Amino acid sequence: MAVVIGGGISGLTACYKLITESRTRDLSLRVRLFEASERLGGVIDTVKRDGLVMERGPDAFISTKPWAKDLCQEIGIADRLVGTTTQYRRSFVIHNNNLHATPQGFYMMAPGMIIPLVRSPIFSVKGKLRMAMDLFLPPKNSDEDESLESFVVRRLGREAFERFAQPMIGGIYAADPSKLSLRSTMPQFPEMEHQYGSIIRALMARRKNSDQQNASGPRYSLFLSFQSGMQTLVEELSRQIPEGTICINTKANRVDLQPKKNRWIVNFNQNQHIEADLVCIALPASRAAAIIKSASPIISGLLGSISYSSSITVNLAFRQEQINHPLDGMGFVVPAIERKSILACSFSSVKFDNRAPEDIILLRAFVDLAQERNMIDRSEQQIIELVLRDLNTLLGVKGNPIDVLISKYDNAIAQYYLGHLDRVRQIESEIAQLPGLAFAGNAFHGVGIPACINSAEKAVTKLLGDFDL
Ligand SMILES: Cc1cc2nc3c(=O)[nH]c(=O)nc-3n(C[C@H](O)[C@H](O)[C@H](O)COP(=O)(O)OP(=O)(O)OC[C@H]3O[C@@H](n4cnc5c(N)ncnc54)[C@H](O)[C@@H]3O)c2cc1C
Repeated sequence: MAVVIGGGISGLTACYKLITESRTRDLSLRVRLFEASERLGGVIDTVKRDGLVMERGPDAFISTKPWAKDLCQEIGIADRLVGTTTQYRRSFVIHNNNLHATPQGFYMMAPGMIIPLVRSPIFSVKGKLRMAMDLFLPPKNSDEDESLESFVVRRLGREAFERFAQPMIGGIYAADPSKLSLRSTMPQFPEMEHQYGSIIRALMARRKNSDQQNASGPRYSLFLSFQSGMQTLVEELSRQIPEGTICINTKANRVDLQPKKNRWIVNFNQNQHIEADLVCIALPASRAAAIIKSASPIISGLLGSISYSSSITVNLAFRQEQINHPLDGMGFVVPAIERKSILACSFSSVKFDNRAPEDIILLRAFVDLAQERNMIDRSEQQIIELVLRDLNTLLGVKGNPIDVLISKYDNAIAQYYLGHLDRVRQIESEIAQLPGLAFAGNAFHGVGIPACINSAEKAVTKLLGDFDL
């Protein structure tokens, strides 16, 4: 018997792979998945009403990491993937309350083209000259990790950090860049520094290579979703899992090891339990820590020390005439120094086709919790007022939205602070000594959906290896 705890994308993938892989290897293995809530998908949650397709959580996944795309192919839904629209492949950064296009060539948090950088009004002349110094500064001569903030300020200067890198990082991790580990979150950057001695030079070379690759054939859009939203992935994955495998409304409380039998006991409410040869815990780290505490206080302590950030998303639908801005981009990010209540906003109905009826605009704002943590406890009305105030200033939005959907995620996105890699290494070496136990989820090697899928695949490889012994 194999038990998966958690029915988000990590748990569903682990469950599906345990079933398909054990079939392929001709292993006789029963699989059960237990999900605490009444629905599957975890933070992936699409709400469809009145012609609107609103994403509470993730609205897309990145196509450059193969695992999500490959899973879609495997379960036969690759033909339902949709890329972002090609009309406006750009986004904006707020500067003194105005939207300015991200200079062409910028990648994640650094410039990759000189002329668009020189022309951009986002940075002062002094700021641009400081960024250009990256071309001449010597590379760091140690492998020691550093924070994202320290890296950007060291290579490109404080202005590049405050005006561009910080809001970009905030948009991805909803996190404090002075604490985030560069090597855990963006390992490609120290590699670029090491190989090219300069981030700008590395990005210019990268651009040249990708231009050559693009010329050699079609490729996926950088971000992918589905016509009916991200829930499609959850629905189709669970459809391929045999009936009777998944139990919703069933919260696991504790996982214990029965040393004599070398089996695991998964405990639920009311003294109910199930014995298992294999257990995959696919939960946010703090929940996983609580469940595994009696079986492995060491793993529990390590998992419990991984921080998570919270997030609030607000979907808002407006009539076209309520918005002054042409919305000729995918959305915008807001530097913390602009002191707004929102940290980013996607123009959802511009970014993807078929997200709203004609003449209706669907926007999705992310509320900034870094400046005010207790925002998560505010009433929906207060949150809407703050978001509308910003949208009025930045996009000239007038009046009330015709539909609103607020979603609060408390402690949902793992924060890879300095020391994360060591912590994960320690967790992995402890787990290696516990046959039949594995973890999946966003606490380890990436917070995005592709990384979660990959974490589940690796967990299944470990479990089936243990089972084969
Ligand atoms: C607002 C937001 C936006 C995001 N945007 C993107 C994006 O655009 N692209 C991207 O790639 N990634 C994005 N992410 C990250 C990504 O969506 C998540 O990292 C990923 O979906 C996490 O999946 P998971 O299965 O590991 O965890 P979860 O989705 O958290 O699932 C865990 C599941 O376990 C259940 N559970 C909890 N405790 C128990 C228990 N004791 N017993 C049984 N079940 C339990 C929960 O109910 C839940 O269903 C976003 C995340 C958030 C919060």
